[in-house]
Amino acid sequence: MAAENLAVSRETFDNVILPVYAPAQFVPVKGKGSRVWDQQGKEYIDFSGGIAVTALGHCHPALVETLKSQGETLWHTSNVFTNEPALRLASKLIAATFAERVFFGNSGAEANEAAFKLARYYACKKHSPFKSKIIAFHNAFHGRTLFTVSVGGQPKYSDGFGPKPADIVHVPFNDLAAVKAVIDDHTCAIVVEPIQGEGGVMPATPEFMQGLRALCDQHNALLVLDEVQSGMGRSGKLFAYEHYGIKPDIITTAKALGGGFPVSAMLTTHEIASVMAPGVHGTTYGGNPLACAIAETALDIINTPEVLNGVDARREQFVSALQKINQQFDILSEIRGKGLLLGAVLNAQHASKARDILNASAAEGLMVLTAGSDVIRFVPSLVIEPTDIAEGMARFARAIAKVLN
Ligand SMILES: *Cc1c(COP(=O)(O)O)cnc(C)c1O
Repeated sequence: MAAENLAVSRETFDNVILPVYAPAQFVPVKGKGSRVWDQQGKEYIDFSGGIAVTALGHCHPALVETLKSQGETLWHTSNVFTNEPALRLASKLIAATFAERVFFGNSGAEANEAAFKLARYYACKKHSPFKSKIIAFHNAFHGRTLFTVSVGGQPKYSDGFGPKPADIVHVPFNDLAAVKAVIDDHTCAIVVEPIQGEGGVMPATPEFMQGLRALCDQHNALLVLDEVQSGMGRSGKLFAYEHYGIKPDIITTAKALGGGFPVSAMLTTHEIASVMAPGVHGTTYGGNPLACAIAETALDIINTPEVLNGVDARREQFVSALQKINQQFDILSEIRGKGLLLGAVLNAQHASKARDILNASAAEGLMVLTAGSDVIRFVPSLVIEPTDIAEGMARFARAIAKVLN
């Protein structure tokens, strides 16, 4: 085991990794369910879920079993050859959604890149090469490729990298009038997260989503939903669009799709997919058998009434624990989000303390996330044990007490 002969620690990070992250001061080495242990053997409760990825907790036995069995069978073929796990996963995603065609990638950004390219290509082939305008939203997050940061609504992520893809317009989220003011027949797509994740755990209102659908229909534009964070059961339904009574044209999914193994997908209709042809788009690893086999197992488990109904029960436990903490400390102004995509919004008096609370939580043995400077974000396993929620919330209360003192 040559790899274990080289001692590494958190300090190694600063010497060997590109400094685009500032990870916590501890290094996790092992996880089981919703508990994680670091190099020193300290135990943590995981409310961060690897940023809404480990939806079945760490090392779920069924996922480990598939990893092992597929790992001894076939890992990779390239798209010069198709494979059974990809065909099964695509068939199951289609059976579970509005969709009729699937494209596999390896990350959320890659699925979104495919979605944005498809929306433009479809408009170009079916309407006009000038129908290229994309309407997107302030504070949106769609990934880190140049196209996806440009569609994303945070200029700090897209500035400094040279000329950006053109014809992208940003307007305020949940503001239908603002969309009406900019949409026209040159618009090819509206791109939106049903629940903005990185942008502060902000759900779209039903009127907004239904209004976007109607505007897309009026202008022959596609409604593209980024469900990278909100999908795969996170909202209490398999995909968050199901809460809104609308049918999208394209959705993207990643994060929880592989339960921790990198895989993503873009889902669309046969009609829209039919403009594509061999060679127009692609990716070497996309749809590889190892990733797809694991995602198939994750989907089989998540897309059941037990798991999906369990999301709302767990949400209630989180919300009531947070309300109790708020009665004691008067620190929150709002608890928002859907299902187990939960945002605890700090009130004006404590608005800049999210990062301090995250650090204090780690010290108490709890992993949480932030979403901006004033929101604590909880995106735990969808099957987290009630006892882990209770213990994690006790640790959270201690962390808050420390920050306030
Ligand atoms: C995380 C995220 C992405 C980017 O996914 P990557 O796998 O990091 O490329 C895109 N959209 C949303 C809504 C996300 O939360």
